[in-house]
Amino acid sequence: MVKKTKNPVTYTKMKGIVSYFAALIKERKFGSADLLQKLGTRHPIYRHMDAECFLRPEGSSVCDEAGAAALCFTRTTQELQRASAADFDYLKVIGTGSFGKVLLARHRENDRYYAVKVLKKQMILKKNVEGHVMCERSVLLKTVNHPFLVRLHFSFQTRDRLYLVLDYADGGELFYHLQKERVFTESRARFYAAEMASALGYLHSLHIVYRDLKPENILLDSAGHVVLTDFGLCKEGIVGRATTRTFCGTPEYLAPEVLQQREYDRTVDWWGLGAVLHEMLYGLPPFYSADRMVMLSNIMFQPLVLKAGVSKAGRDLLNRLLNRDRAKRLGAKHDVAELQHHSFFSSIRWDDLVAKKIKPPFVPSLSGPDDLTNIDPAFTNLPVPQSLGVCEDAGMTFPGFSYMS
Ligand code: ATP
Repeated sequence: MVKKTKNPVTYTKMKGIVSYFAALIKERKFGSADLLQKLGTRHPIYRHMDAECFLRPEGSSVCDEAGAAALCFTRTTQELQRASAADFDYLKVIGTGSFGKVLLARHRENDRYYAVKVLKKQMILKKNVEGHVMCERSVLLKTVNHPFLVRLHFSFQTRDRLYLVLDYADGGELFYHLQKERVFTESRARFYAAEMASALGYLHSLHIVYRDLKPENILLDSAGHVVLTDFGLCKEGIVGRATTRTFCGTPEYLAPEVLQQREYDRTVDWWGLGAVLHEMLYGLPPFYSADRMVMLSNIMFQPLVLKAGVSKAGRDLLNRLLNRDRAKRLGAKHDVAELQHHSFFSSIRWDDLVAKKIKPPFVPSLSGPDDLTNIDPAFTNLPVPQSLGVCEDAGMTFPGFSYMS
């Protein structure tokens, strides 16, 4: 049951919210995980989990869904046993986050390319976000079975750093392509929105709320399919329409109930999808204002204005996803199935979509697996830390992070 919270926003309360966000936004140069930290949130449930627990975290239920998944999961855990920091050549920085960098790396033995997310333990401990890191790893281990979610191949640690070895999504950030083209055609936006919806629906079926849908976390693979990355702000254990209150995410794409720190549920992801779809179709997030404070206030109170230029079905979908009343938001009752039946997606054959049988509308031009054309030079020009491949004793911190047989 969705709890109805009577929470009228008075002038004083609004003033409080606005000054709160003013302080927060001053520090917007930090990532969303940092934003979360500002509110002092933690996930204590992960602090004492051990390796055994992580490697069998309801994993069997994921595997049960398809025979192939069992193989995937087993393969992943076996790989986890074998890897260490010294097994890779770290070639280029391809992304940055709040607690470290993401690097393109080549496995010295199998010559495959991976994206390695390297997190500094000191930073994580200083900011008290161990829970988010362990949660990210736990979610990555559970979600090996979806075509539009990034896959974890290895995880290990050294004395100073944690490493997550992921599929390299070499098509670059969706945001990078959107910035270059300003807007996408409706059919291109539909394709990406459908792949994202399918991934979010899958996460919800595992009782995971993604919470941080934003263009920087939506990547493309070499064929042009969506790859969702960054599970650091996921929330596990949200069953059905159960709610939570933790504040997190990126302000532009946050649902009003999250901004107001009211209870929220998995429907925050449908708001997030609405915000990203709006940006793909109109070139800007909904309720946009160059003044961030005005935009935040707009998200909470301003009626949604959708200009012409987008089809009636597209505007109707945006209106339904960006409904401030989460109980009436599209997806509130039957989750992704409600989106799948909306007329905007009438041309999508969902089984074909998940089987990757629908031809992507755009194929990134790449000369090979190490081509960095689609990665922002702002990242690739950053220096690669020399000590990344040094393999010393991992020490006592993060006991559940690396696999121990
Ligand atoms: P945040 O502070 O936003 O939470 P983060 O520290 O969790 O960030 P990610 O968002 O996971 O880090 O990654 C940062 C960036 O690195 C992404 O925006 C993306 O550009 C790049 N990146 C991450 N994973 C991959 C991948 N698998 N393949 C290619 N690039 C990636």
